[in-house]
Amino acid sequence: MNKHWYNYGNIFKVKFRDHFCYKCGRKLTIVKHRKVVFQKSEEAKYYDFDAGGDGGIMVGPCEFIHKVFFCPKCFQNIEFITQINQEDIEIIIKKVIKYFEKRNREIIISKSYETKLSEFVENNFNLNDDVILCLHISEKNKESKTYKIPISRRKFWERPYYFDISKKKLINFIK
Ligand SMILES: [Zn+2]
Repeated sequence: MNKHWYNYGNIFKVKFRDHFCYKCGRKLTIVKHRKVVFQKSEEAKYYDFDAGGDGGIMVGPCEFIHKVFFCPKCFQNIEFITQINQEDIEIIIKKVIKYFEKRNREIIISKSYETKLSEFVENNFNLNDDVILCLHISEKNKESKTYKIPISRRKFWERPYYFDISKKKLINFIK
């Protein structure tokens, strides 16, 4: 069978950070994820069938292999992009709190998730198309407000989920 290796995610951040499951906090390991995709299948459009073969056209199904995190407690694979994004969210929250601290504003940011119908979801859920990240911002003598980021999905391979967050946008929202 055809085989195709690929990398997906920021390899630098994968290598130089310690990673703890964004759901349960357990230290993550790295495993190989293998998936056979048939060219005529519905999902084939997300995979790159041009990459394989000996310079020719790839014929038949292909096994796509890439590395992912694995949580021994949740017993689940987590895409690099999804996990790193969750870590980045925490880092950005801390940076934004610091940013306002320096400007003598004491801000508290807490995180939760809800569905598109505004139903609250528990922390230990599987990401899906219906999730919105909510950052609740509170500050003394000010009305609290919520910054909402709907979930996004990458367009290729396993199409990992992530939230499009930036420090700048969050700061501007709070200002
Ligand atoms: Zn876990």
